[in-house]
Order: sequence, then structure tokens, then C-alpha cells
Amino acid sequence: MNIIIFGPPGAGKGTQSDFIVKKFKLFQLSTGNLLRDEIKKKTQLGLEINKEINSGNLVSDKIVGKLVENFLSNTNYKNKIIFDGYPRNLSQANDLDKLLIKYEQKIDLALNLKTDIEIIKKRITGRYSCNKCGKIYNKFFNPHPKNNNCCSGEFLNKRGDDNIDVAIKRFNTYTKETSPVLDFYKKKKLYKEINGESSIDQIYKEISDIIAVIEA
Ligand SMILES: [Zn+2]
Repeated sequence: MNIIIFGPPGAGKGTQSDFIVKKFKLFQLSTGNLLRDEIKKKTQLGLEINKEINSGNLVSDKIVGKLVENFLSNTNYKNKIIFDGYPRNLSQANDLDKLLIKYEQKIDLALNLKTDIEIIKKRITGRYSCNKCGKIYNKFFNPHPKNNNCCSGEFLNKRGDDNIDVAIKRFNTYTKETSPVLDFYKKKKLYKEINGESSIDQIYKEISDIIAVIEA
């Protein structure tokens, strides 16, 4: 079974795909990880990637396609893949279709963790952590227990990297690029939507149920 998981940055896609990988014994294809690995290994492709990144460009669909092909051609992963963060645009979706045919595989499910920008904003602005144990809470979704101040009662607000403007920009870019990809999988009748505003456990349960039906 091959699955694609969609969702805007901040929707909790990474968390869910980690769960699914473990439960259904899949391999995660994350283009971000593949790019980093390739750079680290200093392959010819890795050097090309480095050059593109250093010149301030996004890594081209062509290079991403090569990395995806390397992964798809590995028979260990055959029909056991969860695609996370790919395909990101229509051109990549078409590339993926060709690669799947070439390596005699198919997509069984395209899952979308549908999450509104207002929820993502609350996830970012509501986040705080305990300064002793590091446990992360959220004042909207997961506040610390009322009669328990976690470790010491000292809480740290908002993490430094959580800039709301950046989040909105990323969300808009994602939506613009990915909407046509979602339509692409709707037409193939592979599309299933999950309410990304539910709790992590609830989302995980819904995803598991959907996959169990497909596997049966
Ligand atoms: Zn604590």
C-alpha cells in the first residue's frame, strides 16, 4: 500500500505519518529528508542540490523527481511508502504518476488533513512550555492541568521560530500549489479528507480506520 498524506505546515502531518509508518510498517518518503541525506552524502546530485539552495532557489522538480525515483526503485520499499510533503504541485504529481507506472506501483490513498489557517494560528500563538521538563502545552487545545503547574509553575511562552507571518505565508503558498494536486487525486477517486482540527488521537484513529478498510 502506498499513501500520500497532505496537510498545510502546522497541521500535524509529521506526527501522523510517524504513527502510520510504525503501525502499518511503511517507509516514509520525505523529500526534505531525501534532500538533506543527499547533501550529506556529497553525491553528484547532492552537490547540485547544494548549489541550487545556496543560490537562493527552490530545488527544482527535476532534482526532486530524481530523488523520488531512487526511492521508488528500491524494491525494499515497494508498495510500502507513505509520501510526506510530495507531490507538492501538479508537475510533481504528473512526474510521480510516470514513476509509479515505471516501477509497477500505484497510490492507494491520498489523505488530506484539512486544517484551517485560524487553527494553525492558534496552535502557534497558544503554544507554551514548561521550563523544567520541556513539556509543550497549548492554551487553546491542551492547557496544563489547572491544579498542577507541571514542574515549577514557570512557563515559557511562544517559541522563537514561531512567527505568525511566516506561518500565514507558508499556508498560502501551500494552498495555492497543492489545491490542484488534491483535485488530481479526487478525480482518481483516491482522495479522503480528515478534519485536521480534531485531537491527535482522534485523527490517528480516523486514519487507521481508513487504512484498515483499504488493507482488508
Ligand atoms: Zn514540567
